[in-house]
Amino acid sequence: MSTRKTRKPREYQNRRLDALAAPPEAGHELFVGLSSLGDTLSRRHHSRDFAFAHSRYLRSRVLAVGLIFSLLSPLWIVVDALALPAELLKYTLVGRVGLMLGLLTVLLLAFTSGERVRRVRFSAGMLLALPAAFYLFVLVVLPDPQVQRLVGYGFIPFLLVASLSVFPFTLLESLFAGLLLLGLLGFSQVIDGSWMTGRGMEALWLLSSLLMVSLAANHFQLSLLLRLYRQATHDPLTGLFNRGALEIHLAKIQAWQRETEGPGRTGNIPCSLLLLDLDHFKRVNDSYGHSVGDTVLQQFAELLVGQTRRHDCVARYGGEEFVVLLVGSGQARAMEVAERIRYAVESFEFADHEGRRIPVTTSIGVTPLLEDEPTLAALRRADEALFQAKRDGRNQVAAVEVTTHG
Ligand code: GH3
Ligand code: MG
Ligand code: MG
Repeated sequence: MSTRKTRKPREYQNRRLDALAAPPEAGHELFVGLSSLGDTLSRRHHSRDFAFAHSRYLRSRVLAVGLIFSLLSPLWIVVDALALPAELLKYTLVGRVGLMLGLLTVLLLAFTSGERVRRVRFSAGMLLALPAAFYLFVLVVLPDPQVQRLVGYGFIPFLLVASLSVFPFTLLESLFAGLLLLGLLGFSQVIDGSWMTGRGMEALWLLSSLLMVSLAANHFQLSLLLRLYRQATHDPLTGLFNRGALEIHLAKIQAWQRETEGPGRTGNIPCSLLLLDLDHFKRVNDSYGHSVGDTVLQQFAELLVGQTRRHDCVARYGGEEFVVLLVGSGQARAMEVAERIRYAVESFEFADHEGRRIPVTTSIGVTPLLEDEPTLAALRRADEALFQAKRDGRNQVAAVEVTTHG
């Protein structure tokens, strides 16, 4: 108290100025609050692309936890052998062998699941269900009084509820698993006679608290993942895919083309690329200011999304360059779409902050996306076509086709 009174006002002011001058903490944009509860409650709002990224992450967790469980399980055979009489050992041994075989199958399933989202989710569910089923099996087959002699089995529901926090599960998924595990604990208490006793209530309370902590961990983990994914793949100004995400998406589309066409490469699913560049955009910035330029880019992005179908892809390739991928459109159809977009841009009423109209046009390069070429080769061809459109006087559509030999 006394130091506060004697501190000189000037020194105090300097401290405040120092605090102001300090740069904001690095990483503060990754702050995760409760506001993202809607995103972590269920998968309803997750995009298809996030589902793939999420499933790759989930798969790595399944492999790690699966490996830990597979190593713990045989170790417990030793503990059983030391603690249990021989006549009980045969029951637990059967369960252990079943559990280990199940865990190995889950590991194999996760390892070979690649991009298959459902398979990864199934293996994650099985990884938690197997130890629970093993515990249930032992509880049911062991003669009543003998259950008391099991060492370390009672913690299986606790171990599983704690494990929920390692996975980026949604809150509803974890809640579902948690309630089943509470049920399992309740059942074990009925069997061992601790149901509705002080000890039993304490264990149920502990498991419920652990579940709450796991749910919080799920929320923070999943919302951080969503945020990182968004920042890594989307352009903050327009909300479109960025260049990196586009290149990954193009490679995926090519793989899909190859898979769906089958042998013979008859090319029945043609795809086309449009590379669009705003004409004389520097003039927009110079005449109206950079912030109006930004607004024009946002309006342009919205217009592109409005002009394409849901399974097409629109991305911001660079400053005022955009790419549209037309899935299932050959060269003739792509030229029609490009011309429609060119005309839509020309006639759209782009406006500055005061609502004054800004004339904007775009040049468009069109080229096919072949299933077996490097994506950068297709983008380079689209760039050549765009260059041609600019050379022809801007506000034009130009194409570079591919000549296929043999
Ligand atoms: P051209 O018809 O040959 O394409 O002419 P241009 O003026 O559009 O071409 P240039 O590539 O020289 O200029 C692109 C301009 O786009 C320059 C840059 O300031 C502007 N730009 C790039 N990114 C942004 C952005 O995020 N916001 C704004 N406002 N302007 C941007
Ligand atoms: Mg330009
Ligand atoms: Mg440009």
